[in-house]
Amino acid sequence: METGDRRFLIDCGPATTYKLVQTGMQPLDIDHLFFTHHHFDHTSDFATFLLTRWDHSIGEENRLKVFGPSGTEVLTDRLIGESGAFSTDWKARVGHHLSHTMHVSRGGSLPRPAPSADVTDATPGPVHSEDGLIVTAAPGEHVQPFLDSLVWRLETPDCSVVFTGDTQPCDRIVDLARGADALVSLCGNFQSALRERGIEEGQTGTLGAAEMAAEAGVKQLFLVHVGPDLSARENRERGLAEIASVFDGEVVLTDELTSYEIMTGMSDTSPATRDPVTHPHIHRH
Ligand SMILES: [Zn+2]
Repeated sequence: METGDRRFLIDCGPATTYKLVQTGMQPLDIDHLFFTHHHFDHTSDFATFLLTRWDHSIGEENRLKVFGPSGTEVLTDRLIGESGAFSTDWKARVGHHLSHTMHVSRGGSLPRPAPSADVTDATPGPVHSEDGLIVTAAPGEHVQPFLDSLVWRLETPDCSVVFTGDTQPCDRIVDLARGADALVSLCGNFQSALRERGIEEGQTGTLGAAEMAAEAGVKQLFLVHVGPDLSARENRERGLAEIASVFDGEVVLTDELTSYEIMTGMSDTSPATRDPVTHPHIHRH
């Protein structure tokens, strides 16, 4: 998410750092990272992101702030801590004169600091505020009790966006998203496909995403984490029509490496002007 001169990263799954660079961003452009949960498809590029950001740093940049559910602090320490998986690498870069020369050539000074970040295991509720940024979390419902999940609401003076991560639809997400500009929701498949395969629990499909967006009164619904059935060219229109039958705001079925504008400001679809709605399609747990 990019607003003003700020960029926020939500999750850090496979090849995230590579894809960031492909879209013209560098790890050092991002000062805040929010994890929704610790499944590897949301975390596995964290090491690359952390270490690349550190390697490019010359000590003048903002410190990286990382927020996530329980396990975020341990994960970080196990990667870049004193005895972490990558400690032999960073100690070599901190100690060897070749790395010193490269670091100084970039504008850094010696001695090289070890990699570090401000990491917080967060819980639902207000989590962070800073220079007009207000961050709030709600619990997601995904694969408890094995993993905690957090849904994030990021508010800046320009816009407010809620990121579900992986979860089934639930009222606490609707409450968190109420009045936000946009909901960025998991949408793994057609609701009927999830139901037929017995994998509706812990996940969100077309109708679940649409109902949360409608009940929260957001202007836009961005569908992410879209599986191969729904993202197939021949199926997209049917998926969008299914969602439009429930949610009358703008729906974006997102593609990788693509930027989308967040609609901001009051509009006819703002929650203040809408009647409260509830939808019966999805059983709430
Ligand atoms: Zn997951």
